[in-house]
Amino acid sequence: MGIDPALLERRLDELYVIGAEPDGGAYRPLYGPAWATAVERVERWLKDAGLRTRRDAVGNLWGRAEGTDGGKSIVTGSHIDTVRHGGRLDGALGIVAGLTAVESLLKAKGKPRRTLEVVAICEEEGSRFATNFWGSRAITGTIDSADPEIAAAMRERGLDPARIATAARDDIDTFVELHIEQGAVLESSGTPLAVVSAIVGTAQLEVTVSGQPDHAGTTPMDLRRDALAGAAAMLHAIESIAKSLGKPAVATVGKLAVEPDQINVVPGMVVFTIDLRHSDLGGRRALEERIRSLCTTISQERRLGIAIRTLQEKPPVAMHPDVRALLARAAKECGVQATEMVSGAGHDAQILAARCKVGMLFVPSIGGRSHCPEEATSPKHLELGTRVLTKSLEMLAY
Ligand SMILES: [Zn+2]
Repeated sequence: MGIDPALLERRLDELYVIGAEPDGGAYRPLYGPAWATAVERVERWLKDAGLRTRRDAVGNLWGRAEGTDGGKSIVTGSHIDTVRHGGRLDGALGIVAGLTAVESLLKAKGKPRRTLEVVAICEEEGSRFATNFWGSRAITGTIDSADPEIAAAMRERGLDPARIATAARDDIDTFVELHIEQGAVLESSGTPLAVVSAIVGTAQLEVTVSGQPDHAGTTPMDLRRDALAGAAAMLHAIESIAKSLGKPAVATVGKLAVEPDQINVVPGMVVFTIDLRHSDLGGRRALEERIRSLCTTISQERRLGIAIRTLQEKPPVAMHPDVRALLARAAKECGVQATEMVSGAGHDAQILAARCKVGMLFVPSIGGRSHCPEEATSPKHLELGTRVLTKSLEMLAY
């Protein structure tokens, strides 16, 4: 099955220009003007490809080719929104590749047996409102209501917040998405393609370490209760624990605040965050338990107070075994041995998994860069990913 790589690149370029920021990258926040322009552009492409288009109550855009057998749909696509200074491929690739794949299938093979749909999901990034997965949550019928700010933004785009529940779908059989890896695993191992096995579970903790703020000149070392020195020992321990548990366990301390934050005062209090991820719930819990216990021990040894609070917890989500196997077969038929890997980032598939079979393909990110203007994938990998996506849609729908 041939796809046109030049067309693929051209469409990605066209989308990337929409919402271009003067200091680099593109920004298409949910319901903003750039977002609306991008949705219109994709709608035109879908129509040109011979698909029947429709927008649901939250602004997800659907393009549909009716199957001769009827029944539940085979869906492909990704999200159309971006982070600030976003790159050319995150989300955009899944939409452009999906529509290019379906277009070439319709051209070469005519009407599908199963209904085929391409979706541009309205929002995934949570970069304008705290709405993460707004589009896929609407599809799974798990949004209760829109807060006033989001409701106002919806109305500005002619969408009625009272109708959100109507966006729910229970007639999707399978959802497959092509996405960039957004990390450096594939590139560093020289692997051109991966089938995602699971999307990691995340726990985010906040640790408060309390000591005593004392004079930096008059307090001897043995009499100090230095919260920052204690926190530093904890940070070191957190890194060692994640390393000793091995892949795919990861732990990150990304925020740290010191009080009183003075050059000549022994730090009295430190608050830092820990982001913990693992593809397996047991693995993630083991990571968290060891970190909690070691931080507590360090605080006791140093006569410091400690409080650990869970900010957020999300379980890992496995991709459907049938879809994983099918994607691996499709890759093989395209002459490539795909590896399996765990996604360290969140994706719409983890939400949609509650309602349908899901699967994802990853292509390498150059230098592992993503969510920045440097985000890139070599044209040959973009073409390969799109060819394998096309093959898998053919296997599912024809
Ligand atoms: Zn994405």
